[in-house]
Amino acid sequence: MSPSAPSDPIALRVPSTPFPDEDLPEGSVVDGESLTSDRDESFDYVVIGSGAGGAVAAHTLASAGYKVAIVEEGPWVKTRDFGEDVLTAFRSMMRDAGTQVMSGRSHIPLVQGRCVGGSTVVNSAIAWRLPEDVIDDWALRFGLDDITMAALEPHFDALEEALNVRTAALDVLGRNNELFMENASRMGATPTLMRRYDKGCKGSGRCLTGCPSAAKQGMSVSYVPWALAKGARIFTSCRADKVDIQNGRAVGVIAHTSHREFVGGSKPVTVRLRAARGVFVAASTVQTPNILHRSGIRSAILGRHFQAHPGVGVGGLFDEPINQHFGVTQAVETIDFRKTHRFKPETISMQPELAAVRIPGVGRELVERMGQYAHLAVWAVQVRARAEGTVRPGFGGSDKVQFTMGEQDMKAARLAVAMLTRMMFESGAREVWPGIYGVPYVMKSIDQVKAIDDAPLDPRCYSFVATHLFGAARMSRDERASVVGPDFATHAAERLFVVDSSVFPTNLGVNPQHSIMALSRLAATRVAERALSAVAA
Ligand SMILES: Cc1cc2nc3c(=O)[nH]c(=O)nc-3n(C[C@H](O)[C@H](O)[C@H](O)COP(=O)(O)OP(=O)(O)OC[C@H]3O[C@@H](n4cnc5c(N)ncnc54)[C@H](O)[C@@H]3O)c2cc1C
Ligand code: SF4
Repeated sequence: MSPSAPSDPIALRVPSTPFPDEDLPEGSVVDGESLTSDRDESFDYVVIGSGAGGAVAAHTLASAGYKVAIVEEGPWVKTRDFGEDVLTAFRSMMRDAGTQVMSGRSHIPLVQGRCVGGSTVVNSAIAWRLPEDVIDDWALRFGLDDITMAALEPHFDALEEALNVRTAALDVLGRNNELFMENASRMGATPTLMRRYDKGCKGSGRCLTGCPSAAKQGMSVSYVPWALAKGARIFTSCRADKVDIQNGRAVGVIAHTSHREFVGGSKPVTVRLRAARGVFVAASTVQTPNILHRSGIRSAILGRHFQAHPGVGVGGLFDEPINQHFGVTQAVETIDFRKTHRFKPETISMQPELAAVRIPGVGRELVERMGQYAHLAVWAVQVRARAEGTVRPGFGGSDKVQFTMGEQDMKAARLAVAMLTRMMFESGAREVWPGIYGVPYVMKSIDQVKAIDDAPLDPRCYSFVATHLFGAARMSRDERASVVGPDFATHAAERLFVVDSSVFPTNLGVNPQHSIMALSRLAATRVAERALSAVAA
């Protein structure tokens, strides 16, 4: 079943056709790095953020014939410039070069894209529709009864057709995924191939540092260029300071060039984008609440009810080669424990520099293990944590996230790590690294796995990472319990819409990008239709 890994993985980078992020309409990209004087321009709608929520909203509004501007804090890193090394990728495409954390009982890295396309450029392209039980829960507890599967279905269908959602091709699966597929039944689970945005994945295992062949369909090679082709314009390396709200109505966005702030030196240029019809905020769960706060929105709910799916990985060394440099970064999962145990086990390939931070040992022992990278498999689990945290303004315009996993969340994480560790041994691993402080950091036999049952429940003993983020600008029909109503409009200001996962009243237990895009498309379509019918009346 397993094709052999290509001897020259670099060859995967060579494109056969021009990438969609080249040859953009003239004048459609205004690069903040090159601006030398203040700008003041007028549009119908201004969209803050070019990630999953923003790109789709901009495309929908531009397709309806509106004049649209997107303002994006990060640079446009083109497919041709995606490099091999993790450090360069993190510095150019990740917020705070990947060092952002959420604080609480422990510090958990909070990974977000900060570039055109947002986190979709550095994610694994896994596409999950909003689960029916979440839709029912939102209707019951938050009165969101017009967000139904019937309403969302046409949007999911359109997104899936446009972004070519399909399961990974078996010939590029790679051994890390295959092993999980072959052995998940040992933990009593049914493995499934993930559905992904995939136009020709070559199995380079490099989704987390940008797809070198533009197969992944992140927003920088799909909805952003498609919006520009419909007449939208994007202001890159421009950070939205605030939404300009006058007489209770959003009338534009005030931004400044962010590159200069980053490198220091000369005074940033101010970019004023006027919005005759409205502003859409899609700067992500962490940045959106603070943009609203900086814009003068005050609400007891703003910044509260932040949720996440903290993830934790387990590594194992095998006699057979795993060769993580070949294979889809993430392609196999099991959904069997989502409802019963609130976690989702899955595969994840790690580039050597990323894997290195979790390789146990020091000195010679560490070097020897690193030398066996070709035999390393990594699987992980995303926990649908019940815990809620807060997002608040931090020092100097930064964002401060506080979050501590509760006891039930920790029990779920611990159980999942035990299951994956056992499954690694049953799959043939000669040693497994559960990654929990307080139990042996290297386990050499399956008999040792039972030690994990008594492992500490202190989050400081685990190496969590959070990439799926929700809440902090909650949507509900109850105005006192939310920031945004079921029409995605803020209660506090007219013509101000929020279309990212900050409005999600709860987390999902599955990967969020697809739901964010479908909800954003639904919201923008409804706003565009209302605006068009107002013109016709
Ligand atoms: C490593 C990783 C792997 C993941 N894997 C998957 C996966 O396989 N499947 C899945 O469904 N989800 C995955 N996710 C999560 C998914 O990518 C996000 O949930 C989704 O992209 C969030 O969409 P968004 O529009 O809210 O934010 P983002 O996509 O993060 O976009 C927000 C954009 O807003 C910009 N911005 C922020 N503040 C400002 C400002 N003040 N002014 C201007 N611009 C601003 C940011 O720079 C960013 O580009 C992953 C995430 C990461 C980090
Ligand atoms: S594994 Fe990811 S980065 Fe590599 S070709 Fe496939 S989609 Fe692109």
